[in-house]
Amino acid sequence: MMRPLLAGLALTYVLAANAQDERKKLAFEAIDRNAEQIALVGDSLYYFGELGMQEVESAKFLKQTLEGIGFKVETGGAGMPTNVWAQWGSGKPKIVIVTEIDALPGGSQTPGSIERKPMIKDAPGHMEGHNTHGAVAVGAAYALKRVMERYKLPGTIAISFGPAEEQLVSRPFLVRAGLFKDADAAMLIHIGDNLSTGYGLQNYAAISAKFTFHGKTAHGAVNPWDGKDAVDAVELMDMGYDKLREHLRPTQRAHRTITIGGIQPNIIPDLGQIWWFVRDANAPWAKENFDKLVNIGRGAALMTGTTMEMEINASAWPQLGNRVLADALQKNIDEVGNPKWSAEEEKFAKDFQTALGVKVTGLNAEPMKSGSRPQGFASNDNGDVTWNVPSGYFTFPASVPGVNYHNWQAAVTPISSIAHKGEVAGAKVLAATLLDLVTQPEILAKAKTQFEEDTKGTPYFSFLPADAKPPLDMNREMMERFRPEMRKHYLNKTPRFD
Ligand SMILES: [Zn+2]
Repeated sequence: MMRPLLAGLALTYVLAANAQDERKKLAFEAIDRNAEQIALVGDSLYYFGELGMQEVESAKFLKQTLEGIGFKVETGGAGMPTNVWAQWGSGKPKIVIVTEIDALPGGSQTPGSIERKPMIKDAPGHMEGHNTHGAVAVGAAYALKRVMERYKLPGTIAISFGPAEEQLVSRPFLVRAGLFKDADAAMLIHIGDNLSTGYGLQNYAAISAKFTFHGKTAHGAVNPWDGKDAVDAVELMDMGYDKLREHLRPTQRAHRTITIGGIQPNIIPDLGQIWWFVRDANAPWAKENFDKLVNIGRGAALMTGTTMEMEINASAWPQLGNRVLADALQKNIDEVGNPKWSAEEEKFAKDFQTALGVKVTGLNAEPMKSGSRPQGFASNDNGDVTWNVPSGYFTFPASVPGVNYHNWQAAVTPISSIAHKGEVAGAKVLAATLLDLVTQPEILAKAKTQFEEDTKGTPYFSFLPADAKPPLDMNREMMERFRPEMRKHYLNKTPRFD
């Protein structure tokens, strides 16, 4: 009696699988057909090369591009003019692509040159390749919309381009403003040298804060007893934390720089400032370390008779990769596979690796296998999103293995054919995975259960003080200084998707 029923179920499954294959095929065709337009998005962003919170031209360009493909685009969310939120579709599920497009100071480099050769001396530039994120997000969103329209699939697709990722600034504000409140899942994307995904804690929590001490000047020889030395307070805070290190968990990281260290030796300084990054493997531990640091600062002020001001200027929770979403991503990673690299691209990669003195491996031919990636030590403020919404995270192969990010080397290839092919692979994985989420509610349901399990003991709290406002002037001066020169390199082309 069971046989016909089972056969029926199997047939339904096959039909569903075929329909899904067809939908993905359609999405992949749309991406391949628009490969040049996708590349143009990434390349345009590369030449804007804008620093965090000053992504003015990039935001304008993305707004126009996304409106051009039928998305509704809002800038200025959470009080940040360069925040971009694009959305299309209606109803549930609602899935948000989460990414960023900011560049780094001093990152200007002539694309394709494996010798250090800035396009503009000292100017900012994309020496991590965040420009490629825009290409992947737009390419996937376009393909997905085409397929959802064709098959009349319900659901809402959003893209969140958060400002100033490199300074870990915007996502805590976006979360606080409730932008992710009704999202069912988030997909975080980042450039890498391979297709890869992971789950569990993917990196570190971080809090960045400046401590400013105010004292009283006096002549260093004539009447030092009248002075209150703000730089002494800075030094004592530094020493105090070093004493503390022995009593912190071995996972902790803390680093500092003295940003105001006095005027000249014979003037007792009335102003001193030290800027700290405190990190740990999870957010509550980072907060615990940070609270101790604040007390050390208070102690330093007490010892020196100075006063202390504290300003938290950035923070991040560690990225929490959802295992169910990682599995969904991995399936599509295996299906899409890495780009077929040309002999020329392989040769370029090897020459580049040789010039850099790193292992000469060429480009990755195969995606990374599934499994839990080890937790990294850096931070990304999109971590805050992952503790509020079940989140998948993946990288796409748009850079050369062995190249260091936050270094001019990483600005050599983000508009090369290597990057272009990597963008196409990334867009396919993203579109296919979003299609799976839109059409298979059981994946989202399982992801939600996994999320509840993962976050059970660790409810999200914001590191931001209640009155914190986004630092809108950050990087403004530097960007305005270089933008007129950089403008000469803009591509001034409009992507046209079809
Ligand atoms: Zn990044």
